[in-house]
Amino acid sequence: SKHKGRNRYEFFTYAMEEQAIEKRRLIEQIHTALKKNQFELYYQPIFSINGTSVPKAEALIRWNHPERGLIGPNEFIPIAEKNGLISDIGQWVKLQAIKDTVQFNLLCETPIQISVNTSPLEIDRAGNWVNEWLEASEQYKLPAHTILIEVTENTLMDPDSLIQSQLKRLNAKNIDIAIDDFGVGYSSLAYLQRLDIDILKIDHSFIRDIETNENSIALIKAIITMAHNLGVKVVAEGVETQHQYLLLKQLACDYIQGYVFSKPITKQSFIEKYVKSKVL
Ligand code: C2E
Ligand code: CA
Ligand code: CA
Ligand code: CA
Repeated sequence: SKHKGRNRYEFFTYAMEEQAIEKRRLIEQIHTALKKNQFELYYQPIFSINGTSVPKAEALIRWNHPERGLIGPNEFIPIAEKNGLISDIGQWVKLQAIKDTVQFNLLCETPIQISVNTSPLEIDRAGNWVNEWLEASEQYKLPAHTILIEVTENTLMDPDSLIQSQLKRLNAKNIDIAIDDFGVGYSSLAYLQRLDIDILKIDHSFIRDIETNENSIALIKAIITMAHNLGVKVVAEGVETQHQYLLLKQLACDYIQGYVFSKPITKQSFIEKYVKSKVL
C-alpha cells in the first residue's frame, strides 16, 4: 500500500542520514588521528622468485583507532580521497616511509627497497608533492633506489602530462616508479616505455584464478614477456598458495608478494624477521 511505501522511503532517508553522520564522524576522527599519531605503517615483504631473499617490502597504512582497534586502509583512504584529507595522510606516509627506509638500510648490508602507495589525488599540479619527496629524501639522506613509488594506471592517464612530468623528476633523482594493480585499468603499454617504469605489479585478480583459468596463465605470461623486453621487472601480488607460486616461478616472474610467504607485519617484526638477519 501507499502507506507502506512511505515508511520504506522514510527508512531509507533515515539510513542515508545515519551514513552521512557516520562519514562526518570518520572525517573528524581522521583529523584527530593525524594529530595524535594513530596511523602506523605495516610492511609486507616482497620475495625474490626463489623465495630466499627479501629485496623489497610494501608499506601499508593502518589506523590504531582508540575504540575500534586496527582499521585497514580500504575503510578510510577512499573517504580521505573525497575530502582532501588524502594529502595530509600522504604527507605523513611519505615522511614515515622515508625515515623507516633509512633505518632499514642502516641495519642491513644489502639494500632494501620500500614501496609506497600514492593516491592520484595527492599529486597536485603545482608540484608540491614532488618537491616534498625531493626535499625530504635529501633531508633524511635517503640512499638511491631505496624508494619505489606505486601509482595506479589511472594516475598516468593525466591528459596534460603534468603528473607524468613530476614522476619523471622523481625518477631522475633515483626514486623508482611502479605501476600498481596492473591489468585492471586501461593498461596503456606506452607508459611503460615513456616513463621509464621500473616495476609492474600484476593485480591479485589475475593471480587468483591462475590455477583454474588457462587464459590467466597466457595473460600473465604475455605481461611478463613484454615487461622483460622493456627492461621492467614484475611483482605478482596476492599470491596465496604454493601452487600459484610455483606456476609464477615457471613463468619467470621476478618477485612474489602474498600470504603464501607473509602477511603485512609491524615495522618491529619486519626488522627482526627480515632486516636484521636477512636470512630466512
Ligand atoms: P594494494 O596497494 O593493492 O595493496 C595490497 C593489498 O593486498 C594490501 O591490503 C595487502 O594486505 C593485501 N594482500 C597482500 N597479500 C595478499 C594475499 O596473499 N591475499 C590477499 N587476499 N590480500 C593480500 P591493505 O593493506 O588492506 O591495503 C588495501 C589498499 O589500500 C592498498 O591496495 C592500497 O591501494 C591502499 N593503501 C594502503 N596503504 C596506503 C597508503 O599508505 N597510501 C595510500 N594512498 N593508499 C594505501
Ligand atoms: Ca600497492
Ligand atoms: Ca628508474
Ligand atoms: Ca596492488
